[in-house]
Amino acid sequence: MRVNIPETGQKRIVIVGGGFGGLTLARKLSKSDFQVILIDKQNHHQFQPLFYQVAMAGLEPSSISFPFRKAFQNHPNIYFRIAEILKVDSENNKIVTSLGIINYDFLVLAYGAKTNFFGNEKIEEKAFSMKSTGAALDLRNTMLSDYEQALIESDFDERQWYIDIVIVGGGATGVEIAGALAEMRKYILPKDYKELNAKEVDIYLIQGGNQLLQGMDPKSGDTAEQYLIERGVIVKKNSRVVDYDGEYVITQSGEKIKAGKLIWAAGITCNRLEGITELSYNKANRLLVDKFNRVENYENIYAIGDMAAMISDEFPLGHPQVAQPAIQQAKNLARNFKKLNNKEDWKPFKYKDLGTMATIGRNKAVAEIGRFKIKGFFAWLIWLFIHLYALIGVRNKLIVFINWIWNYFTYDQSLRLIINPKSTSNRRKK
Ligand SMILES: Cc1cc2nc3c(=O)[nH]c(=O)nc-3n(C[C@H](O)[C@H](O)[C@H](O)COP(=O)(O)OP(=O)(O)OC[C@H]3O[C@@H](n4cnc5c(N)ncnc54)[C@H](O)[C@@H]3O)c2cc1C
Repeated sequence: MRVNIPETGQKRIVIVGGGFGGLTLARKLSKSDFQVILIDKQNHHQFQPLFYQVAMAGLEPSSISFPFRKAFQNHPNIYFRIAEILKVDSENNKIVTSLGIINYDFLVLAYGAKTNFFGNEKIEEKAFSMKSTGAALDLRNTMLSDYEQALIESDFDERQWYIDIVIVGGGATGVEIAGALAEMRKYILPKDYKELNAKEVDIYLIQGGNQLLQGMDPKSGDTAEQYLIERGVIVKKNSRVVDYDGEYVITQSGEKIKAGKLIWAAGITCNRLEGITELSYNKANRLLVDKFNRVENYENIYAIGDMAAMISDEFPLGHPQVAQPAIQQAKNLARNFKKLNNKEDWKPFKYKDLGTMATIGRNKAVAEIGRFKIKGFFAWLIWLFIHLYALIGVRNKLIVFINWIWNYFTYDQSLRLIINPKSTSNRRKK
């Protein structure tokens, strides 16, 4: 197979992955003297922080996605190919991709992280995750189909299987899903599924540690927990899910919860790449990088974002795996690449923490910005505007904004279409 990219005589930077890090880097290099090749296994950038709203039928996937080709329409030095990286041949400065071989002068790995099931294959097979638009849509279709089934199911236990949901992981993703589900139960179910007793729908949030939102101040975790409890979510802390057979969720203490949907939001890990020495990885499968994001043991291979671990006294495990480090590392690396022509010294990366936040639903959020800890309506407004600002594309910003305003005043959205009623997840065989 041929990748069909001309050799232009320019130095070539190959970027693998067009997430927050890769897309920012490519954009920042779009007016440079480099030939930039971006590869991604999808043809579009995905705004992961809003996956859960797609899963909860609050937003359409198109409004949180942005096609790469559109991003680079007016930039002749940027080439995009839909391809997966398979292997690195660092001796010969080449990567092997699903489309063929691509040579590089500089390689930037930015292909992010994947859900960590901690080796539990059964859970991996049966659970829903939240790591792609497809996964979010799968959950949406299954959830809506299950409500339909529950309506016609007369057996109480069987009905519980269709309607009860267990979420594992009390980080921002788990908390946000639980909050959105609780709102759906309160505002949507009584209107859409009148014959279903919404009080029968149990939403569990199971967290291994003793605090929700563990990266945040314990007070923010407590506030989030309080908000969830007020919304009727059953929060179980210091509890670990050890098994799920598609029928029952089993915790370490032996508790059994009957539920047809287990949403796994308990952690992430990275894919190792053939051709990169084991010595360059840390225990969490992240690539160890120096303060310029150069991968240890390589001269011209870089890693940014979720997959990079830049170890320092302040960040002994690397930076948090959230959007800002990826974006900021990409910007710094782009600036440094541009210095190559003038043989200027490179600038080490310095992380600027812009804050952490999570929303628990309408008017409720927690946010930590610098030394300020904010909660409630004001935090929720900040959450809304920061997410709108961060979305790529004016059209997307507008559509999401209109959707949110509509939802806010009508207590409703109208996206509850089951487009593909057949779930790709393999729950129980009936
Ligand atoms: C559900 C969810 C909610 C989140 N909420 C927040 C939030 O509220 N705030 C926040 O700051 N962060 C949040 N995050 C984390 C944030 O999305 C990540 O930290 C950020 O996306 C990391 O950026 P990245 O560039 O490293 O990788 P990603 O953005 O993950 O991008 C990786 C890209 O690489 C591509 N790719 C993957 N494998 C390959 C391959 N083999 N070959 C080619 N291409 C490949 C993917 O298609 C993707 O486009 C959330 C994450 C998830 C999953």
